[in-house]
Amino acid sequence: MSDKSTELIHHPYLPPEGFAAPQPGVFKASTVIFPNVAAMRSREWKDKTGYTYGLHGTPTTYLLEERLCALEGGTQCVLVPSGLAAIANVALALLKQGDELLIPDNAYGPNKALAEGELKDWGITHQFYDPMDLQDLARRISRRTKLVWLEAAGSVTLEFPDLREQVRVCRNANGGAGVLTALDNTWGAGLAFNPFELGDGLGVDISAHALTKYPSGGGDVLMGSVITRNEALHIRIKLTHMRLGLGVGANDVEAVLRSLPSLPLRYCAHDQTARALARWCQTRPEFAQVLHPALPDSPGHAQWLALCGDEAGRAAGLFSVLFDARYSQAQVDAFCDALRLFKLGYSWGGPMSLVVPYELASMRQAWPAHLAPGHLVRFSVGLEAATALQADLVQALAVLD
Ligand SMILES: *Cc1c(COP(=O)(O)O)cnc(C)c1O
Repeated sequence: MSDKSTELIHHPYLPPEGFAAPQPGVFKASTVIFPNVAAMRSREWKDKTGYTYGLHGTPTTYLLEERLCALEGGTQCVLVPSGLAAIANVALALLKQGDELLIPDNAYGPNKALAEGELKDWGITHQFYDPMDLQDLARRISRRTKLVWLEAAGSVTLEFPDLREQVRVCRNANGGAGVLTALDNTWGAGLAFNPFELGDGLGVDISAHALTKYPSGGGDVLMGSVITRNEALHIRIKLTHMRLGLGVGANDVEAVLRSLPSLPLRYCAHDQTARALARWCQTRPEFAQVLHPALPDSPGHAQWLALCGDEAGRAAGLFSVLFDARYSQAQVDAFCDALRLFKLGYSWGGPMSLVVPYELASMRQAWPAHLAPGHLVRFSVGLEAATALQADLVQALAVLD
């Protein structure tokens, strides 16, 4: 290579220090440069006093980790490439052959699929429990139970469990030895309630969050986080994170850092519009039931009220409807196809409203007694005007006539 190559690689210029701007600088690295061999040998990759390798952290990832800890009320964080990777990181760090994990029956589907797939193949058993029945949870815990997943509100059906009492059951289990709890905190996003302080000195051990949703806020980033308040637990999670190589890209971290400051405002806006639309849907004869924890007759409303209060910004912008049983799947599908502003697509948390028809019967152990029979559709409310979204629902409902 020419000397130009060498010069361009090793150019000595360094810009002056002291640059300050609203957004932090973005550091991209696989390789981290050490000043000498002694530093290379002595640096500990697990702590955040220095840098060893891009996978173990850069100033950019540390910054997002600390801001997410502030958001969720934890002290330690790892970043992973998706929300599902956060769930998998927790499971693989804490479970081994012969152990059992418990998952609420209304949990995020791929969490259940991981249990039924790889975890089962590796000799880790699971049971699905009724999230609305504390006795059912208590009775399923045994000496083999090493992890209990919690979710508030539940995916798709949005039942709000008695989270504090669920944690109490897990703490007191096995003669007081207790069992670890991990919350999928994507719905609450660190804003609806503090998962580490649920009252009465109770809190979850781990919070897993799909940053893909509200923290990204754009529908354009996949990322997840695992947050704890316990150093030993964090190290277990971090070791698995390192061995599996679950790194995240600096461009994606930058996108989330850019979106985070507007998170509380966006969450509140999604919440207000979703509640308004959910209430309006309750007035429509086409729907047998509307599921949103802020609606007085939605499953778990009292528990939501007790934990989150009624203020705007204390619920995610999601609600589901159960169509009256007289409507066929084909009619409900035609309704979804007729929507113009609500786009058909998975995930949520971005500016664009989304809709998904779900086949609930195939997702649950049995049809829950608190749900009306009928086809289910979930709406994720974006940042469009409530009046425009309501008009879209009106015109799409017309296809049912
Ligand atoms: C979307 C979602 C996940 C998974 O997030 P991905 O980044 O899509 O893998 C996990 N839990 C809940 C509740 C979610 O809504």
